[in-house]
Amino acid sequence: MYSRILRLRFPKTISTQPIVCYLTKDYDLVFNILNATVLPRKEGVMVMELSGSKKNFKDGLRYLKDQGIQVENASQEVKRDKNKCTHCGACTAVCPTGALAVERPEMSVRFSQEKCSVCELCVPACPTRAMEIHPTNQAFFE
Ligand code: SF4
Ligand code: SF4
Repeated sequence: MYSRILRLRFPKTISTQPIVCYLTKDYDLVFNILNATVLPRKEGVMVMELSGSKKNFKDGLRYLKDQGIQVENASQEVKRDKNKCTHCGACTAVCPTGALAVERPEMSVRFSQEKCSVCELCVPACPTRAMEIHPTNQAFFE
């Protein structure tokens, strides 16, 4: 069994669910959606664990790419360096999942790792470079 955690970026012109279901129907792959964000008139980001035979896995990835979906390794996580964060709030404007949010009445910015889809939008948005990408142990698929 071949299994990897992937991040799928959907262009704003296509919907996500029917395409992902074809991975099971046509390629005999099992998927477990870990996080999904699809906003109207914006791109969608989905993080999923995908499992199956290596051949089916590669065929399924080719299918996704043919649909215009960008497939990336998601074996990384985003962390915040608390020492660099000034709680300016700039990242909360771009975070699509609410992982970064202003807490009231303190007006401090809270980061929830569990809600993070690793979309990386906050990384360039942070003026102090407090949001950092860290690789995890899982290797990228060939
Ligand atoms: S943009 Fe950077 S410095 Fe500002 S609240 Fe977010 S993580 Fe902190
Ligand atoms: S990577 Fe940053 S912007 Fe994206 S969901 Fe995680 S905290 Fe929010």
